[in-house]
Amino acid sequence: MTPSSNPKVAIVTGASRGIGAAVAQRLARDGFAVAVNYASSPAQAEALVAELKAAGGKAVAIKADVASADEVRAMFDAVEAQLGKVDVLVNNAGVLNTLPLAEHSDAHYDQTFDINVRGTFNTLREAAARLNEGGRIVNFSSTTLALNMPGYAIYNATKAAVEAFTHVFAKELRGRSITVNAVAPGPIATSLFLDGKTEEQVQAFAKMPPLQRLGQPEDIASVVSFLAGPDAGWVNGQILRANGGLA
Ligand code: NAP
Repeated sequence: MTPSSNPKVAIVTGASRGIGAAVAQRLARDGFAVAVNYASSPAQAEALVAELKAAGGKAVAIKADVASADEVRAMFDAVEAQLGKVDVLVNNAGVLNTLPLAEHSDAHYDQTFDINVRGTFNTLREAAARLNEGGRIVNFSSTTLALNMPGYAIYNATKAAVEAFTHVFAKELRGRSITVNAVAPGPIATSLFLDGKTEEQVQAFAKMPPLQRLGQPEDIASVVSFLAGPDAGWVNGQILRANGGLA
């Protein structure tokens, strides 16, 4: 898409850092006006918006906890007022707590389901009423769902729910020319993956895929760019694993 005075509008949830920030950068380069959603990192979100604007793009930072239906509704209102009606929704915001199921606290369980599942539900529900015809929705699953590693029961359960949403919601939007897909990354070098791991553990993950490296946020941003763009118009209701061949 070439930049224009009325660019298409994309919301990227959890875009203050990590994969979401790379997705926001990529979609801005693709010509979208981008809403950079964040929950608790205003400085990073504002710095990213300043960078996107300096490069000639249109962008706004919007604070909203995706787990709150009211805040998600207000986020869509703010984006519509500041950038226009939404064409692309990227449901990237997510959290990971790796603990054996038996050691998961109620609070961890609630937080993981509230952000990963309820957060996606909240934005999808708004998108159903508000997305422009011809729009694109990209949800975030994870390759961990295919690996069944100890410690990932709760996280994988949330991503299984996101995959279920993706398959069904694609069908529920029949007649609107809106596609709903999900990307399922393998290990990506962000704080979500790196925090709490030793260098040895990180290297063990890096060696797992046949391409023998960790993924970078840009590896996923390019997949989202494809799914959000015109070339993916016939891809709908699919889960796209991007993991260097890990699973
Ligand atoms: P990250 O570096 O930890 O970044 C997470 C982002 O989500 C931050 O911008 C954070 O914003 C935001 N966020 C967290 N809670 C939020 C909430 N309640 N409302 C709105 N935003 C919220 O994580 P990441 O690695 O980029 O992960 C992005 C997505 O990819 C997640 O869905 C994750 O499950 C998935 N994924 C990641 C990997 C991996 O290896 N990294 C692999 C597979 C799938 P604030 O700082 O403002 O809170």
